[in-house]
Amino acid sequence: MVLLFGPPGVGKGTQADLLSKRDKFIKFSTGDMLREEVASKSDLGNEIVDYLNHGALVPDNIISALASQFIEKHKADHILFDGFPRNLNQAQTLTKDLKRLLLSLKVAIEMHLDETEIIERLRNRRYCPQCNKIYNYVTNPPRQEQVCDICKTALVKRNDDDEKVIRKRLDVYEKETRPLVDYYKSHRIYERVEATDSQEEVFKKISHIINAHTD
Ligand SMILES: [Zn+2]
Repeated sequence: MVLLFGPPGVGKGTQADLLSKRDKFIKFSTGDMLREEVASKSDLGNEIVDYLNHGALVPDNIISALASQFIEKHKADHILFDGFPRNLNQAQTLTKDLKRLLLSLKVAIEMHLDETEIIERLRNRRYCPQCNKIYNYVTNPPRQEQVCDICKTALVKRNDDDEKVIRKRLDVYEKETRPLVDYYKSHRIYERVEATDSQEEVFKKISHIINAHTD
């Protein structure tokens, strides 16, 4: 079991997708799990809808319960935690859950990028409103300027990519998620990857780290 974390805009989602495609990792992402649970119309799902409808953050105990369900279901598999845990509380619960199931995390990888670079990347990010494909004018440009490669729709900028919002999300990351660095250092499973290179280079580095920790 492997954990990948890092600030918004670092390219974490892309790497998580590559790992699940090429290395057959089963991905646990909080967003996907929340959507699935809501769609299942379970009691928990209905509770989640209440939080989302009020624009409130879904509490840690619910997120941890979803993670726990997922781990029990997939415990024999290669799990990749993508953007979970988001804070120390969730991380501690995860450690306990894994211990109970006689499992353990092999490595917690932080993708790192300087704040100025993150802001620059997010400024250059566009997405296709038709098929949701994400582009970046600097790191991953469309073949034809401002047009989606797949469906030829005009690309748009996401609202939350405004600089103020980006800075706020980075602040939340610093405050809430950054403490995971020390937490996983103390468990001796922390690794850091500089995310300045191309997607392919970053993927190679991440794969290398995972192999070194799982053999
Ligand atoms: Zn498209």
